[in-house]
Amino acid sequence: MSAQQTTAAMKLADARRQLERATGQTLPPLLQWSARHLEAMRKMDAEFAERKRQRHAKSDERIAASEQHQAELLIESRRHRELWRLDQMDERKERDRVELSWRQSHRDWLMQLRGSLGPLEQEHLADEISGAFDDSANPVVQHLASSLRAIWTAEQIDVRECADPRLANGSASRSGRWIAIGPLKNIRLCEIAWHETAHICHGELADYREVLADDKFHKISVPAEIASWRWVLDRITYWDEAMHEDMTRFIGSYKSHAIESEIREIVTLCSPLTLSKTRLRIAAA
Ligand SMILES: [Zn+2]
Repeated sequence: MSAQQTTAAMKLADARRQLERATGQTLPPLLQWSARHLEAMRKMDAEFAERKRQRHAKSDERIAASEQHQAELLIESRRHRELWRLDQMDERKERDRVELSWRQSHRDWLMQLRGSLGPLEQEHLADEISGAFDDSANPVVQHLASSLRAIWTAEQIDVRECADPRLANGSASRSGRWIAIGPLKNIRLCEIAWHETAHICHGELADYREVLADDKFHKISVPAEIASWRWVLDRITYWDEAMHEDMTRFIGSYKSHAIESEIREIVTLCSPLTLSKTRLRIAAA
């Protein structure tokens, strides 16, 4: 019996005694709850309590399952992204490996055939020698690398060290905020890495004027190349004649795709005056 029922029963018993005293009569005995009724009530209470317990347990289970499902999806998508990144890096490495091997065998073939190399093959050979040079103990290299790493951290750039340094080439994805570069072990490799970083960091351009590259596969944008080198010249922490020469050569390879106004910009960018201005800016910093 509940507390409420007990109180009601006590009040009723009280009233009966008062009535019996007042009338001098004995009233017939009170109706007792039957055992069957009490048992039925107890069972009903228990059944509903059990329904409630089961419902709550089921909800808990469903909540836990959906939380686990979400956590699993998150892990799967992270893993997918990571594998995709590794796959792209591997693709780059293999492409470079094939290109390097082709250049080397082409040189051997030319040497056997003519006993000399053309200007392009000589340039490739110089790139290979330069790319293999480890100058990482040079304080200038360390300085260029550390200031660049600070930019990568601040700009949250995904840096993929997968480009073969002997090909003197990097790449960048502005929309994906990643760059593919070689190891930062000499000044030239640092310069290339600065340039690829600039592709992510330079300001938006009114017109990218993208055109198909000579391979009819890659897209190139001369305005983006110019903007990137400008960004480098405005921020890089070291600059010398050799770097200026490298920049002149790198951007020069886009000249055949440039329109007249862009050619003028390229000429200004590569001029001795720009070299002096850049060196002055760094000296004054
Ligand atoms: Zn570029």
